[in-house]
Amino acid sequence: MAETRSLRDVLRVKPGSRVRLADIDPRETFGRDKDASKDELAAGIERLAGLQERLYAEGKQALLVVLQGIDAAGKDGTIRHVMAGFNPMGCRVVSFKVPTADEVAHDFLWRVHREVPGHGEIAVFNRSHYEDVLVVRVHDLVPKDVWSRRYEEINAFEALLAANGIRIVKIFLLISRDEQRERFQERLDDPTKRWKFRMGDLDERKLWDDYIAAFDDALTRCSTDVAPWYVIPADRNWFRNLAVAEIVAETLEEMDPQYPPADPTLPADLKVE
Ligand code: AMP
Ligand code: MG
Repeated sequence: MAETRSLRDVLRVKPGSRVRLADIDPRETFGRDKDASKDELAAGIERLAGLQERLYAEGKQALLVVLQGIDAAGKDGTIRHVMAGFNPMGCRVVSFKVPTADEVAHDFLWRVHREVPGHGEIAVFNRSHYEDVLVVRVHDLVPKDVWSRRYEEINAFEALLAANGIRIVKIFLLISRDEQRERFQERLDDPTKRWKFRMGDLDERKLWDDYIAAFDDALTRCSTDVAPWYVIPADRNWFRNLAVAEIVAETLEEMDPQYPPADPTLPADLKVE
């Protein structure tokens, strides 16, 4: 049975359903095979490249991929592996950091809105406006009545984007607490990865349960028909890459971008001298 359903269907958070991340196994692979995954991923990336070219040529729709996950969940790795096939000309990665003074002086969507993709483009958000109901909530950076309004504000914002030709795919990478420990330790032990580690990462790790509760609510309240969330079991990198590539490719296929017609005044037998 599972074979006939696409990962996109299986992993989508049905709008209106309640998410409990604690009930989802971060090591799940839905019968997929690691050995076969290398070829499958390569094929998926090639499929993505062709679809992006059509999206760019058509210039009428855009794709926004939102990536979220707890520290070390694999956001950077997903971008490196899955987006590798895209032509940089039509694709942008935007990483959202701690807001600047100028950004804090505006509403929380201000810095996000100006980064959304234009028609023909793909944008990948490495973190996003969801930080404003995640880290902001966990650390009480604004009062509860302010962040609790934001779920509805986000849904309205995403509906506005969708109505303007932007397809939205939101990917949550789920790793286990154990896996995070291993990845942190690996960062510490590998001189080429140590730069990624900050002491603050350990303080955040202590807030694991608070983050999971905040993610549960964001995924539950903001998975909509026009901007669904997908929960990707991400302890195994090969499965994570495969799942994200498939979801993005299927979404682009559904968008079905078309090459624009040639200039109708061109004679069919025109020869270049
Ligand atoms: P990194 O993705 O590892 O480069 O870290 C970026 C940091 O910026 C993370 O610790 C985020 O939690 C933080 N961050 C991103 N957006 C916000 C926000 N709106 N408010 C506060 N912190 C944020
Ligand atoms: Mg980090």
